Amino acid sequence: MALTLTDQERTLLQNAIRSIPDYPKKGIIFKDITTLLGNGEAFGVLMGHLHRRYASYGIDYVAGIDARGFIFGAALAQMLGVGFVPIRKKGKLPFTTYNEKYALEYGTDEIEIHIDAFSAHPHAKVLLMDDLIATGGTAKAAATLINKTGAQCVEACFLMGLGFLDGMKTLGQITPVYAVIEEQ
Ligand code: AMP
Repeated sequence: MALTLTDQERTLLQNAIRSIPDYPKKGIIFKDITTLLGNGEAFGVLMGHLHRRYASYGIDYVAGIDARGFIFGAALAQMLGVGFVPIRKKGKLPFTTYNEKYALEYGTDEIEIHIDAFSAHPHAKVLLMDDLIATGGTAKAAATLINKTGAQCVEACFLMGLGFLDGMKTLGQITPVYAVIEEQ
């Protein structure tokens, strides 16, 4: 089975993502994936593609970033027959956590993971999943968290990568990166 998308499939996915100018503030083009989720054909093409790509990676877990990474990550974990681990915004996880701060345009944010999230598999191989990579700050913090637990982030996967920012390059310094669609 083909590991790459056909031109037709790529166009289907691109057209299923809605671009909202000036949201949440002026100058940002927000990539709205709710329209893709609501399109059964496009959602199915995406998940089938990710399933085929990662079936041979020997992944033990998929970890998703709060909140849109949960949707794609949890669906993919089920397709691969592995567990799903949420990486959450500060203060949402009830058990003991590792924390990682990262820079925003103004100030900092913080994400967390349970210290025992991958403990059922020593040296677990983990796929990191989110909807989009922009500056890469969030994903870099998430990959660092995975590695802090003693597990290994084997790849970071995104539905969309904004190629005009350096996020994919920066993240690539600590883990392999894959974006289904790259926007230049
Ligand atoms: P970054 O840390 O800059 O790579 O930002 C990535 C996070 O912010 C992801 O969780 C995305 O969901 C969200 N994000 C950043 N920029 C956009 C955008 N233009 N459209 C939609 N989501 C975005």
